[in-house]
Amino acid sequence: MNLSLDQISVKQVRGVSALKEGELHAFGVFTVKDLLEYYPYRYEDYRLRSLSEVKSGDKITIQAKVIGIPVLQRYGGKSRLSCKMMAEEWMFTATWFNRHFLREQLVAGREIILNGKWDQQRMQLTVSDSEFPDQGIKKGGSLQPVYSVGAKITQAWIRKTIGQALTQYREMIPEILPQELLRKYQLLPRKKAISIIHQPEDTQEGQQGRRRMVYEELFLFQLKMQAFRSLSRGRMDGIVHTVENSAIREFVRSLPFELTDAQKKVELEILRDMRASYCMNRLLQGDVGSGKTIIAAIALFATVRSGFQGALMVPTEILSEQHLRSLVRLFEPFGITVGLLTGSVTGRKRKDLLASLQMGLIDVVVGTHALIQDEVFFRNLGLVVTDEQHRFGVNQRSVLRRKGYNPDVLTMTATPIPRTLAITSFGDMDVSTLTERPKGRIPISTYWVKHSMMDRVLGFISREVDQGRQAYLICPLIEESEKLDVQNVIDLHIQMQQAFPSYRVGLLHGRMTPAEKEEVMQAFNRNEVQLLISTTVVEVGVDVPNASLMIIMDADRFGLSQLHQLRGRVGRGQHASYCVLIADPKSEVGQERMKVMTETDDGFEVSRRDLDLRGPGDFFGTKQSGLPDFRLADMVSDFAVLEQARDDVSELLSEASFWTSPSYEPLRHYLQQEQIFQEDLID
Ligand code: ADP
Ligand code: MG
Repeated sequence: MNLSLDQISVKQVRGVSALKEGELHAFGVFTVKDLLEYYPYRYEDYRLRSLSEVKSGDKITIQAKVIGIPVLQRYGGKSRLSCKMMAEEWMFTATWFNRHFLREQLVAGREIILNGKWDQQRMQLTVSDSEFPDQGIKKGGSLQPVYSVGAKITQAWIRKTIGQALTQYREMIPEILPQELLRKYQLLPRKKAISIIHQPEDTQEGQQGRRRMVYEELFLFQLKMQAFRSLSRGRMDGIVHTVENSAIREFVRSLPFELTDAQKKVELEILRDMRASYCMNRLLQGDVGSGKTIIAAIALFATVRSGFQGALMVPTEILSEQHLRSLVRLFEPFGITVGLLTGSVTGRKRKDLLASLQMGLIDVVVGTHALIQDEVFFRNLGLVVTDEQHRFGVNQRSVLRRKGYNPDVLTMTATPIPRTLAITSFGDMDVSTLTERPKGRIPISTYWVKHSMMDRVLGFISREVDQGRQAYLICPLIEESEKLDVQNVIDLHIQMQQAFPSYRVGLLHGRMTPAEKEEVMQAFNRNEVQLLISTTVVEVGVDVPNASLMIIMDADRFGLSQLHQLRGRVGRGQHASYCVLIADPKSEVGQERMKVMTETDDGFEVSRRDLDLRGPGDFFGTKQSGLPDFRLADMVSDFAVLEQARDDVSELLSEASFWTSPSYEPLRHYLQQEQIFQEDLID
């Protein structure tokens, strides 16, 4: 059998020594395939221009004739070489720095190709690159690929080596996309596309090559995600929840409000998954305040009524205490027992809890990371819900899942993911979206003010508090130092106590013990504290409906999604609510971010604008986001292609012939390499 390019070491390419091979490894290049897919990120234009059409300052390539006698000046260890040239009917001076050895070659009458920066006024070209046609042309007249290089790999070397690899192996580049798709989109064959990405005749040709490979990249990515999903769906060994509709209805009737239409729709989607024999792997996204918690409660109720245990994992202790309280209130009338497991549950209490969980005496457990420790066992875990998903790594979620036998998994996030990112980063999950907030909410008015208006802001605080409301004052992030942040929040707390002697002013920060934090939050909850000075520990999910004012100091130091999360702490009751951003941003982007906040309080809109301002790479901030790292494709500008590829893949996978027909063998081979057939499909 012939080797394929991913089985041939890059060492087989002529000119790649053992030493160079090692250096290529640092760039992730191990095989000939890797090298051929090491694409340039731009091209340098060596196409010949005419001096009649160039502007001063342009980087140009022209063909000329030597007409003068070269003049060499030396100063220090450096040199400057000048010579009169003629191009068409123009005479000009070509100047080289530190290329004294060229002097002998500048013979009058000889043709030369020059690349460099043009100075119209002096009629002078500062040459960065030159070659003589009588020695064979390498760059002149072409587009030269520019690769990301470094260390001991130079641009010239990688160009030559990739060129060499193409000469040796071009014929072995396999086609992988089905012919019908190539025809449908008039895509170049793979062999041709890869060749011209490295060596395009012109920009348009380079674009054609890129277009083909971008499609392929997005197609394969979608194939991986969708095959993964459909195969895990195909596994019929998930838990079948058998809860009766009447039981669910009874629970929903017990709620103090009516579900929104969006909540009803999402509820059905989740129950359908839970009742099916495949494993649910669903993402529930909804703006802050859209009512995700109640959906989680319904799902947990459904698992318990089907005879299983449920777990709700949240990122902070404050949040787990809060969820515990709401679940106890909701579940108590139905005789469902709820337990709490966090780092602060210790000693006897912890022992008892762990034992009850294992014996099945506790139906629903709420907790933090503590839930995924080795000592935690369930009797029969049926559903895992994780809240504020962006705080957990994929691994942590799958550890919790393994604590049962294929439990259903519901992941909730309040960072609405723009459509662009949803289908890329969560292509392996089904997505439910809460598209509306409960009725009767008064929109939050957001204002952006300068620091100089702090007095007015203080006046605003008294107005709200005197009307019986409560306020948050969020302290700026100084830098990546928690210690400084804490100092800062303590100082601000003192100032505010002085400014408002008649109010109780609370303090909350990350260095307090969980018990201390809980105490402050409880006091705020009961309106025993009117003004809460805090770092961003209140960001996630805290629910105090009587709070109507959110003030954020140095708001420009926070990211947009964080600002939106913070703002979501108010506007949770029937009172008109306000968010005040105090900031004097210097950068345009900073000002733009403040404007976005004042213009919309729709989380989807906020993240869309955030994506525009920051680009997808920064959007999630961490590598853990699961965002794929594409070589050529750009998730924003190539979004239409991504959607196309998604539809094409889903059509292809719906045909039974995909798994048998020889024409799809390369795609099946790709899936195999991506381990899509492994037993451990779900994680
Ligand atoms: P999220 O977690 O999505 O930010 P929550 O679940 O905390 O939002 O809900 C925000 C508030 O809205 C809570 O006080 C909750 O009780 C309330 N709520 C949820 N659903 C509804 C509804 N359908 N009608 C009225 N209020 C609701
Ligand atoms: Mg929530």
